[in-house]
Amino acid sequence: ETVINRIAAGEVVERPASAVKELVENSLDAGARRIEIAIADGGKSLIRITDDGCGIPAADLPLALSRHATSKIDGSDLLDIRSFGFRGEALASLGAVGRLSVTSRAAGSAEAARITVTGGTMAPVTPAALTRGTVVELRDLFHATPARLKFMRSDRAETQAIGDVVKRLAMAEPSVAFTLRDVTGDGEGRVSFRADAETGDLFDALRGRIGRILGAEFVENAISLDIEREGLRLTGLAALPTYSRGSSVAQYLFVNGRPVRDKLLVGALRAAYMDFLSRDRHPAAVLFIDCDPQLVDVNVHPAKAEVRFREPGLARGMIVSGLRHALAGSGH
Ligand code: ADP
Ligand code: MG
Repeated sequence: ETVINRIAAGEVVERPASAVKELVENSLDAGARRIEIAIADGGKSLIRITDDGCGIPAADLPLALSRHATSKIDGSDLLDIRSFGFRGEALASLGAVGRLSVTSRAAGSAEAARITVTGGTMAPVTPAALTRGTVVELRDLFHATPARLKFMRSDRAETQAIGDVVKRLAMAEPSVAFTLRDVTGDGEGRVSFRADAETGDLFDALRGRIGRILGAEFVENAISLDIEREGLRLTGLAALPTYSRGSSVAQYLFVNGRPVRDKLLVGALRAAYMDFLSRDRHPAAVLFIDCDPQLVDVNVHPAKAEVRFREPGLARGMIVSGLRHALAGSGH
């Protein structure tokens, strides 16, 4: 069992940032309104996620840490995925490659409970103190797999990658408050990213949150998009062609709320700006495509950054022509 865990773990958890991604997604799936992330030494020695979500009943804790146990789908409908998680792999994988503890108090429970697992071996559930939600703590990632440890990059690079992951997830959830803290060494640590919960309508909230992450200048120089076509909806902010971020690339794409890195969509974005930007400049945009989960397969790879549309031409066409039209209408 432990061996199987470790092999599969390599796919889901290849570095601290992928652990952070899985854990923050779990908090979002749990309906958290406030998520706090603390890391030490680039996440190698500590990753701690505290949320105010629905929690896990004490009796379910061992199951939550078991492979292929998920509370999110009933197994019959892999095509209809609305949550981030659905494989039931993350916690089991993390318990196999680090020292994992999960403390949780389910809504309505009189007390909290904790379970710990090290190297895939679970200890019994014990009572714990927590007013609500869940705290997941992962220490000494890859301590038992020196080969993986060796391939990890510097603390600085890992810290940066964790920041990127958190900001990407925060873009898609403006109404959720996020705090990222670096607690390397002693004391309270240093807050490296904070975004309070945004209120207001879709675009007020989005502009507030994106401004927090990409800066006010981006938001002030971006047009709002809201396009619907044949069951697909495209919303977001696209920078005016006159806006330049220098050499840095700012392209953030989401499908049904998931951050994706998808060649088809990146290509569509480039094509949309083709007539407006010189070849050496990159379009800057934050785009959300939302559709019926049946129209897109997010099941392509465990890391889930790729997607496959039932009709790729439709997604591409909507971005290229919708965005081009909006840019042309903006007078540039
Ligand atoms: P998946 O997310 O694919 O279901 P995970 O291994 O990430 O698998 O999590 C296993 C289960 O543990 C989830 O299905 C959920 O029931 C529970 N869980 C994990 N993290 C949290 C959390 N932060 N709050 C509430 N429940 C959680
Ligand atoms: Mg999960």
